[in-house]
Amino acid sequence: MKVRTRVAPSPTGDPHVGTAYMALFSMCFAHQHGGEFILRIEDTDAARSTPESEQNILDSLKWLGLNWDEGPDVGGPHAPYRSSERLAIYQQHVQELLDKNHAFHCFCSSERLNAMRQQQMATGKTARYDGLCAKLSRDEANTRVTAGESHVVRMQVPEAGVCTVHDLLRGEIEIDWSHVDMQILQKADGNPTYHLAVVVDDHLMEITHIIRGEEWINSAPKHILLYEYFGWQMPVLIHMNLLRNPDKSKLSKRKNPTSIGYYKKMGFLPEAIINYLGLLGWSMPDEREKFSLAEMIEHFDIQRISLGAPVFDVQKLAWLNGRWIREDLDDEAFADRLSEWALNRDHLMQFIPLIKERVDTFSEVVPMTSFLLAGMLDLSADAFNLKKLDQSQIKKILQFALWDLEALQQWERDHINDLLAGIADSLDMKLSEFLLPLFIAISGKSVSLPLFDSMEVLGPDLSRARLRHAINVLGGISRKENKRLEKEYRGLSKPQP
Ligand code: GLU
Repeated sequence: MKVRTRVAPSPTGDPHVGTAYMALFSMCFAHQHGGEFILRIEDTDAARSTPESEQNILDSLKWLGLNWDEGPDVGGPHAPYRSSERLAIYQQHVQELLDKNHAFHCFCSSERLNAMRQQQMATGKTARYDGLCAKLSRDEANTRVTAGESHVVRMQVPEAGVCTVHDLLRGEIEIDWSHVDMQILQKADGNPTYHLAVVVDDHLMEITHIIRGEEWINSAPKHILLYEYFGWQMPVLIHMNLLRNPDKSKLSKRKNPTSIGYYKKMGFLPEAIINYLGLLGWSMPDEREKFSLAEMIEHFDIQRISLGAPVFDVQKLAWLNGRWIREDLDDEAFADRLSEWALNRDHLMQFIPLIKERVDTFSEVVPMTSFLLAGMLDLSADAFNLKKLDQSQIKKILQFALWDLEALQQWERDHINDLLAGIADSLDMKLSEFLLPLFIAISGKSVSLPLFDSMEVLGPDLSRARLRHAINVLGGISRKENKRLEKEYRGLSKPQP
C-alpha cells in the first residue's frame, strides 16, 4: 500500500504557521515512506473562503519548500482538489446515506435549535441535536423537501455506547456517543459541511494517514461512523498537538504573529522556519537541533513526534535563523538572499516613486526608507503623547483600524485609504487626527513618507503587526476593554471592508 497524506487548509485568512506545521509533518511522513503528499483546498465555508487567501497559502507553503505531488495548481489523478468544485460528488454521497437511512432531513428552525440548546445547557447536558426530525417518516420528509421547505441533512448517531478512536501516537481514546452531535452533513444551501467533505475526499483521494491538529480529535467519532456507513476503510489517524503561545494558550495572532507572510517579511530564512517547526514537534535521532528538510525526511520516524505542548518562541526561531545565516550562507550567498528578500528591483521600484520627489541626494534614501525595511520598530509610549487624543482613544483607533485591516482582501493604497477614512468618518473624527496614531505606529515618527503608500509597501502582515505592537507598547487592551470595543466597533455604521 502506498502511503498518501494530505494537508487540507481552509482559505479563510492569512497562511498560518500551523498549516505549515501540519504540511511539514504530512510531507515528511509520506516521503519517508516513498509515498505521496497532497494539498487539498477545503473551501466548504463559501462565505469566508477567498481566492486571495488560497493563493497566499499556496505561495507561502511553496516559499517554505513544502511541495505537493497533487493539488489544485498541479492537478493529479483525483482532481479537482478544491471542495467547491466537488459538489456533485458530495451530493451523491449524501443521497447514498439518506437511502441507507444513515442520514435524515432536518427541518428544525434556528429558534427551536437555540431553545433546545439553552435548555440542555441549563440542565448540564451536552448541547446536541435531540433527534426530533430523525423520527419523521421517509414519506413525510420527502413531501416536505419536495414542497421546498428549508432543510439540512444530518447524520444518524448512536444514542449510547462508546466510540474508540485509534490514534497512532496517542493510542486509544474513548468518546461516549452521547457526546457526539448528529452532525449536519449538508447545509440548507446544499453545500457540504467539513465533516462530510473531509471523509469523502480523504477516501476518494486514497489518503492512508491523516495528520492533523488535536482540535479534531472530538470530531473523529463522526468521521469513523461515516467510514462505517459507507463501508470504507478508515485511514490511520495522527493528531499532533497544536502550536502554543509562550503562556501555553493556543497560538493566536494577538500574542504572536501567526502568518507565514510575517516571518518572510521579517527576513527569516525558509529553511530556518522549517527547521524550527520540525524541532517543535519532533527530534532527530541524534538530538541535533539544526537540520534541513531533506535530513528531516531521511530520518523521519513518526514515533519521535513529541506529545508535549509545542511553544512557538520567536526568540528561539531568531536564534536558529542566525545560525543558518552564519553557518550556511557565505558572503556571496548572503548578498543574494538579502537582495532576494527586499533589496531587489521589484521592491525598490515600489518605493522609489515615493522618495524621488523628496530627496536631493542618494544619501537621504536609506534614512528615509529604513522603516520600510525594518521589522518591529523601537517605539515607546511617549511617542504617542498627542495633544488631542488620550491613550485610550489612541488604542481604540489602532484597534478599530486593525480589525478593519485584518479583513481587507486587496492590500492596495486606495483600499486602505477608503477603509480608514470610513472609520474616521463613522467615529466623527477628522481624518488627519485619526491617522496620526497609525502614522506613528507604522513609521515610528510623526513626519515620514505618506501613510497609505508606506502600508502598501510594508504589506499586510508587517503593517498589522506594527499596529498590534503599538497597542502593546501602550499597555495592551484588557479582555473587558476588548469586549467593550468590539461592541462599539460592531455598532459603527460604515461600509464593510
Ligand atoms: N480544513 C481543516 C483545517 O483547516 C482541515 C482539518 C483536517 O485536516 O481534517 O483545519
